[in-house]
Amino acid sequence: MNTAYTPGTVPTAPYGWNQQTSVSPASPYTPQPEFVKAPYELITTVVPVGPHSTRLVCFNCRREITTNIIKKPSTMAYVSSLLCCIVGCFWGPCLIPFCMDQCMNIEHKCPKCEAYLGRYQY
Ligand SMILES: [Zn+2]
Repeated sequence: MNTAYTPGTVPTAPYGWNQQTSVSPASPYTPQPEFVKAPYELITTVVPVGPHSTRLVCFNCRREITTNIIKKPSTMAYVSSLLCCIVGCFWGPCLIPFCMDQCMNIEHKCPKCEAYLGRYQY
């Protein structure tokens, strides 16, 4: 028997394929709300960072990196400096808080993608 397809002929379905059944569905069809996936999945992990560069996996570019640290004066530095100015210590002494580590925040950033990874406060 030759079962290969020959152009111009319609293959016949096996017996029973196009028979209609009279079984009604158990419950009416209710369309389910379509799940819309977010364009990207944001994974946030709280990584404890210290005052020095830390080796970790960047959550943004997923590479293993050693963080770049940037020292920025904290609010306490500005308040201390303002207090010095009010008391009368202009020029030199009012800048001392900006040189103290205790008044600085240390921000950790990824050297590859510049993503902010965390902050350390004294
Ligand atoms: Zn990165």
